Amino acid sequence: MTQAATVLAVTAHPGDFVWRAGGALALATARGGRAVIACLSFGERGESASLWRAGKTLDEVKATRRAEAEDAAAALGADVRFFDAGDYPLVATRELDTQLIDLYRELQPDVVLTHSPYDPYNVDHGIAGDIARKTRILAQAAGVPGPGEVLGAPPVFCFEPHQSEVCNFNPNVLLDITAVWEKKLTAMRSLPAQKHLVEYYSDLGRRRGVQAKRNSGPNLGLPVDVYAEAYERVYPQVTGELS
Ligand SMILES: [Zn+2]
Repeated sequence: MTQAATVLAVTAHPGDFVWRAGGALALATARGGRAVIACLSFGERGESASLWRAGKTLDEVKATRRAEAEDAAAALGADVRFFDAGDYPLVATRELDTQLIDLYRELQPDVVLTHSPYDPYNVDHGIAGDIARKTRILAQAAGVPGPGEVLGAPPVFCFEPHQSEVCNFNPNVLLDITAVWEKKLTAMRSLPAQKHLVEYYSDLGRRRGVQAKRNSGPNLGLPVDVYAEAYERVYPQVTGELS
């Protein structure tokens, strides 16, 4: 993805697009492309423990998480759209399906990022990923109503779950995000409700960076300190050349 492209990330909660895909989103905008996040909930019940412990009301928690997500998206140069569908549990509804079909057709994304199907720690993540993949298929169908042209076939990449070893996650794509690492770091620091995760995801970025170097060989000229994000392709890569 070296050309200017439109990237759509569909996430269950605000932190997800930051920890797991912040680098990909920042790369897209740094290259003159567009990054849009469909944030299906505010993570108000499941990923805002520190705010509940501080005695905040539901509306206050949602408002805080919205503001944090907007700050994080701004740091990445991305636009975030909130669907306020509720979390813990996130529920797939026909209304949400329709909203996402409309979004796919409006944006015509070149690349789609979302959750992998299985996460035994967080039921919302798999549901959000299922919704993203299902509505991408529906948006491709001429018989399904919605605005604009039907969707083409943008590749779908699942981003990395929190503990990938137990999520059946196969990191078969490593994205070099070194050039935008500082932007991802700024975005991660925009989420004080989950500040305990900044170091964890910094370590993960370094570890995936080491693996990116190991798998690319010296002739690609990757810098010494590489940061990377791991992804798993859902559909086959189409290419005219094996490389
Ligand atoms: Zn989440």
